[in-house]
Amino acid sequence: MQTSFTLAQLADPDVAESEKILRSCVHCGFCTATCPTYVLTGDELDGPRGRIYLIKDMLEGDRPASAVVARHIDRCLSCLACMTTCPSGVHYMHLVDYARRRIAETFRRPLVDRLLRRLLVEVLPHPGPFRLSLRLSRLARPFAGLLPGRLRTLMALAPRAIPRASPVDRPQVFAAEGPRRLRAALLSGCAQQVLKPGINEATIRLLTRHGVEVVVARGAGCCGSLVHHLGEEERALAAARANVAAWWREIEGEGLDAIVANASGCGTTLKDYGFMLRKDPAWAAKAARVSALARDVTEVMAEMGLKPCVAPRPLRVAYHSACSMQHGQKLDRAPRALLAAAGFELAEIPEGHLCCGSAGTYNILQPQLAGPLRDRKIANIRATGATAVAAGNIGCIQQLEAGLGIPILHTVELLDWATGGPRPPALGDPPQTIRTPREPGPSGA
Ligand code: SF4
Ligand code: SF4
Repeated sequence: MQTSFTLAQLADPDVAESEKILRSCVHCGFCTATCPTYVLTGDELDGPRGRIYLIKDMLEGDRPASAVVARHIDRCLSCLACMTTCPSGVHYMHLVDYARRRIAETFRRPLVDRLLRRLLVEVLPHPGPFRLSLRLSRLARPFAGLLPGRLRTLMALAPRAIPRASPVDRPQVFAAEGPRRLRAALLSGCAQQVLKPGINEATIRLLTRHGVEVVVARGAGCCGSLVHHLGEEERALAAARANVAAWWREIEGEGLDAIVANASGCGTTLKDYGFMLRKDPAWAAKAARVSALARDVTEVMAEMGLKPCVAPRPLRVAYHSACSMQHGQKLDRAPRALLAAAGFELAEIPEGHLCCGSAGTYNILQPQLAGPLRDRKIANIRATGATAVAAGNIGCIQQLEAGLGIPILHTVELLDWATGGPRPPALGDPPQTIRTPREPGPSGA
C-alpha cells in the first residue's frame, strides 16, 4: 500500500512504525473473510482492510480521530484473526494499538462513554476495588432493569457468587515437588484472581507437581492489557514497568526460567512488553528479556510433559481456542495435545477461528456485537455434543459461562485433576454409583 507521510511525520517513531505496517498491506482483502465483525455486519469499515484505510487516512492527515474512525476501531475486537489470515504479514496488532491511543488522545467521547471507560480503567485491573464493586453490584441487582443499556450489560456479567480471595495470590514462593526442574514466576493477574481464584490455585498445583518452583513476585500485578486496549497508553506502560521491575528482581536474584501466564490475553501482552517499552532506554532491554521468558502455562507443560495421569476421565471436552491464544500467541496444538494426553476425549468446535465476543472489555462496551458472537459460539459448542468446555482465557470463560448449559473450565483445572489434583468444582459432584442391594445370604448377612 502506498503511503504519503512527510519526513516530519516519520520522525515520530510510532508513525514510522505504523507506516511500515501500512506499506506491508497489499489490500487483497483475504482478512475480511475471517474478521468476526465483518462477518456480522458485512460493512467494509468493520473489517481489517477498511480499518487499515481509516487509520492510514487519520495518520497521514495528522487529524484528530473522527467519530467514524472511533466507531469502527472501537468495534474491532483485537482478536487478531486477520493476522493469522494475512499472507503479507501485516502486523495489525501494533497498528490498531497505536490507533486506539490516537483516538484516546484526540477524540472526545460522549459523557456516558467516558464515565464507563473511566470506571473500567479504575476498577477492573485492581483486585481490591474490583471485588468491592462486585459486592456492591449484588446490592444493585434488583434495580438492574432500570439501568441504561451498557450498565445493564455490566451488571449481567457480574457473577452472583463472589469467591473469597485466595492466599496463593499473595507474594510467596511455592516449592517444587521432588527435584526442581524449573523456576518460574506466575503472573497472578487482576480480574481472574477475583472471579476464579481456583485457576491460579490449579496452576500452582499443576506446576509444582511437575517440578516447577513457582514465584508470585512482590510488586507484580495486572499485565496492563485491559487499559492498553482502551488506548490508555501511560497506564499500560506503568503496569508493564511494575511487572518488569518485580520480575527483574527475581531474574537477578535466584533467576527465572520462565514467566508464566494462565490467561492468554495477558500472555499476549507480556510477550509484547519488549515492543511496548522499546522507546524507553531504561526499560527496553529488561522488557525484551521478560518478553523472551513469557510463556503460556500450556507451553511450559508441553515442554515438560505431563506426569502419568491418574485415570481416564469420561468427559467429552470442546476446547475453545481463545483468540489471544491461537492468533495472538499462535498456540493451538499444545493445549489440545495436553488435554488428549490427560485422557479427555476432544471435540472440535466449528468456526473455531471466530471470537466469542469477550475481548477484554469489549463485551461491556460493544454488547450489540459481543452478544451475537457469544450466541454463535455457544451454538457451535452445543453442536459438538461436548459435556464440558476448556479454555485458556478468563474473559472467554466469563463470556460463555452463562447460557452454555455445560461446565466451562480452565484447561489447567482439567490437567490438574487428571494428574492428581481435586475434581474441579465446576463439574459438580461425581455421578453416584448406584448399588444394587445384595440378596441376603443364608445367614441373613
Ligand atoms: S490480508 Fe493482509 S495484506 Fe490483505 S488486506 Fe488484509 S491486512 Fe492487507
Ligand atoms: S482484530 Fe479481529 S475484529 Fe479487529 S479487524 Fe482483525 S479480525 Fe477484525
